[in-house]
Amino acid sequence: MENQIITNIDEILERIAKVCIRTGRNPEEVKLLLATKTVAADRIKIALQHGQALIAENKVQELKEKYEVLKHVPHTSHFIGHLQTNKIKDILKYNVSCIQSLDRLDLAEKLHHRLQLENSSIEVLIQVNTSNEESKFGVHPADAIGLIRQVAQFETLKIKGLMTIGLFSAETEKVRTCFRLLKNIQQQISALAIPDVAMTELSMGMSNDLETAIEEGATIVRVGTAIFGQRLYPDSYYWNEGKSL
Ligand SMILES: *Cc1c(COP(=O)(O)O)cnc(C)c1O
Repeated sequence: MENQIITNIDEILERIAKVCIRTGRNPEEVKLLLATKTVAADRIKIALQHGQALIAENKVQELKEKYEVLKHVPHTSHFIGHLQTNKIKDILKYNVSCIQSLDRLDLAEKLHHRLQLENSSIEVLIQVNTSNEESKFGVHPADAIGLIRQVAQFETLKIKGLMTIGLFSAETEKVRTCFRLLKNIQQQISALAIPDVAMTELSMGMSNDLETAIEEGATIVRVGTAIFGQRLYPDSYYWNEGKSL
C-alpha cells in the first residue's frame, strides 16, 4: 500500500515533467495538489512523508477528522469543495491557507465577517464553471469579473487566481475548451489590474486531464484517483451536494 502511493506519486511527477518539457514550461511552475477526499489520514501521511506538501479536502467534516493525525506533519492545506456558509466558523479552525472554491458573493461576505472577527485573512481562488454543467459549482464565466471586483473589496480575502473543474469527457478538445476559457478569463482580469487581485494561480487539471491543463497554463493540478486509487463514492456526491438539479 505504502509503495503503491509512492510509485503513483512518482508517476504523476513524471507526467507533469513530461508535459512541461514538451511545452517549454518550467516544472517548478506546476504544483501538485493531492485531492484527499475519502482517503484515510494514514495514507495521506505517507504521501506527505514522501516529499508532497500540498493537500486539499472537499468537506469540512473530513478536514476535521484528519486534522489531529496530520497536524504534526508539515504540509499546506487547501479547500476545494463546495463550502456551505454554516461551515465557515469550522473551516477556519483547521489551518486551511487557501479556499479554491469561492464562487459566490454571500459566501465571500460571510467569510470576510468571520475573518474580521478573528483578525485574520485567507487566500482564495475564484471557482469558475467552465463546462456549463448544471451539476458543477462555480461562478458563470460571464459573472466572474463582477464577482472578483466585489470580493476584492474584502481585505481579508486575498485573491490569488482561478480554479475550475473541466468537463468530464474523453474528448480532449472539449476538455481543453474549459481550460482555455479559464486562461482567457485570467488574462482579462489581469489586464484590468484590479487593486489587491493577483491572478498568478490557475488550478485546473485532475488525474485524467492534467496534461491538457498544463498545456493550457495550469499552475496547480489536483490529483486524487491516480495517486490514492478509486474512491467508493461517485464525485457527484461531492459536487452536487445541496444543489437542485
Ligand atoms: C476529487 C477532486 C479532484 C481529483 O480528481 P481525480 O479525478 O480523483 O484526480 C480534483 N478537484 C476536485 C475539486 C475534486 O473534488
